[in-house]
Amino acid sequence: MFDLIIRNGNLPDGRKGFDIGVSGGKITAVEKTIAAEAGEEVDATGRLVSPPFCDPHFHMDATLSLGIPRMNVSGTLLEGIALWGELRPLLTREALVERALRYCDLAVTQGLLYIRSHVDTSDPRLVTAEALLEVREKVAPYIDLQLVAFPQDGYFRAPEGAASLERALDMGIDIVGGIPHFERTMDEGRRSVEALCRIAADRGLPVDMHCDETDDPLSRHIETLAAETIRFGLQGRVAGSHLTSMHSMDNYYVSKLIPLMAEAEINVIPNPLINIMLQGRHDTYPKRRGMTRVRELMAAGLNVSFGQDCMMDPWYSMGSADMLEVGHMAIHLAQMGGIEDKRKIFDALTVNSAKTMGLTGYGLDVGCKADLIVLQAEDILEALRLKPNRLFVLKGGEIVARTAPRIGELFVKDRPSSIDSGRDFVPRY
Ligand SMILES: [Zn+2]
Repeated sequence: MFDLIIRNGNLPDGRKGFDIGVSGGKITAVEKTIAAEAGEEVDATGRLVSPPFCDPHFHMDATLSLGIPRMNVSGTLLEGIALWGELRPLLTREALVERALRYCDLAVTQGLLYIRSHVDTSDPRLVTAEALLEVREKVAPYIDLQLVAFPQDGYFRAPEGAASLERALDMGIDIVGGIPHFERTMDEGRRSVEALCRIAADRGLPVDMHCDETDDPLSRHIETLAAETIRFGLQGRVAGSHLTSMHSMDNYYVSKLIPLMAEAEINVIPNPLINIMLQGRHDTYPKRRGMTRVRELMAAGLNVSFGQDCMMDPWYSMGSADMLEVGHMAIHLAQMGGIEDKRKIFDALTVNSAKTMGLTGYGLDVGCKADLIVLQAEDILEALRLKPNRLFVLKGGEIVARTAPRIGELFVKDRPSSIDSGRDFVPRY
């Protein structure tokens, strides 16, 4: 017997009209027709049923702070960092928790149930770490939140950067961050990568660094990160976030770099929304796009997963906790509009991110956690095109959010009376 059955869903791999049975919080059957009853049934009406979205790169301590204490006038990364420095002394635990919880409310309705957030550890008060650890516990019933100790002002560059990062790890933050391109010199950046990988190896923790988030083609900390990953035996447990300098690097150098990254099993996390907003700011025309080399990295077998990075904070005034918006932008920036391309992009928002985050029990196989979403689209290609409503969001087999389908009513002579954008325009390839 089942606690819940989702009827007539299309699966991300293209299988259509399947039932998914759930018992004890897990998926216990995926069949064309489940001939049994359940305590509760969800009719997917031939729409896409997917595992939930995962965001492997976010800043939950900064989200929803837009305009406090002022706006970012130049719109650059560096003014964003300066503005965050103005806001930081004003932060209180209560306000941080309140904003993060509000963000998580939105994330759940968007089917975003796994989030990795960086937590700025530059202020020795560590009020950010205290707040986000509290949030991690509060949202645990509906969101799995991973936290990265992130020395925003530099591991060496901030007065107490190194000590604060270690204290944050002692408090229970479980991933080691870094920002080598923001240290004072290239050499300090290189040494920060080495020191942080050593801490991760000693503590048995993963690494996730903001790495080479710059247009400078000579910012090559990813090379050091890959080499240190191998030296400390951290293969598969290290993520390089952004890697935007790779966009501008010399092609010959990249032909040596990508195989090194593959050898180190680096998880690559581009952040398309932020990358197109912040990179190329010092260019006149033509302006570089700035996102790392997604197509080439995927082709080399590297695990690429996309992050949202920011929503309504000193760096980015936009955002809606919608990973399909992230994927939509990635398709444009990477020029990956083909059918197979889009499949890879959808994977980058789901299974690849789950791999980056080291999740277990994620997916649609029998035995996986019953974390599932039903979207107002028939397949993943349409989901990426439309960024449709998430009709049902389930965590551990329980419905945690529901949104009505978006139906437009039309009052035009001799035309239909309503439009379901997720159903009425599906292409037949
Ligand atoms: Zn970031």
